[in-house]
Amino acid sequence: MPAKSVKVLEADQSHVKLKIEGFDQSYLNSVRRISLAELPVLAIDDVVILENTSPVYDEVVAHRLGLIPLVTPVDKYPLPEECDCNSPSGCPKCRVMIVLDAAAANVARTVYSGELVAPEDPSVRPVSDKIPIVKLAPNQKIKIEAYARMGRGREHAKWQAAPVAVLADVEGKEGAHTLEVESVGNYTAPTLMLKSVQLLEKEIKQVSDGVGAGE
Ligand SMILES: [Zn+2]
Repeated sequence: MPAKSVKVLEADQSHVKLKIEGFDQSYLNSVRRISLAELPVLAIDDVVILENTSPVYDEVVAHRLGLIPLVTPVDKYPLPEECDCNSPSGCPKCRVMIVLDAAAANVARTVYSGELVAPEDPSVRPVSDKIPIVKLAPNQKIKIEAYARMGRGREHAKWQAAPVAVLADVEGKEGAHTLEVESVGNYTAPTLMLKSVQLLEKEIKQVSDGVGAGE
């Protein structure tokens, strides 16, 4: 095994590629798996349709809202099961209210994700402003109160922070790997990678604490 080293080969908001030497493949594979399925992010999970005169059914609107990726502030919102409210419907500490209030006057228009607003926490916003939600004919309206909460990709794809995470061997070099992760945009790709490693470390610590308690 070569000496331990981590080198950033490529990094921007949506993509990061590391060259990693001297680490066990199973450890790196755990980081990969966590980034794909375990790292919590925000997504809309509860939708109250207050008014909808558009031709799109309420359930379809709710489904579309759930799939809009949301910028997720780092370490701000706990998973509902880790919040001290112990409430299945959540509380202001573990959920974010997101509202939509849109109307068409005399001309038909499309309502886009950019019109979603989180009045209590403006740092939560759609990753893209350009995702269409509904098309309104003249005089049609849509008014929604929705709640986003943290969840994991293994629960539903709408909480998946990374669509792609690839671990590969560096050819001809024993003990060297590349780990490449793409971000949906909830977190920047470097933050996504960092949070995945931290989550793995947290899980390992839980195991070691458990072993320690048994001594
Ligand atoms: Zn709570």
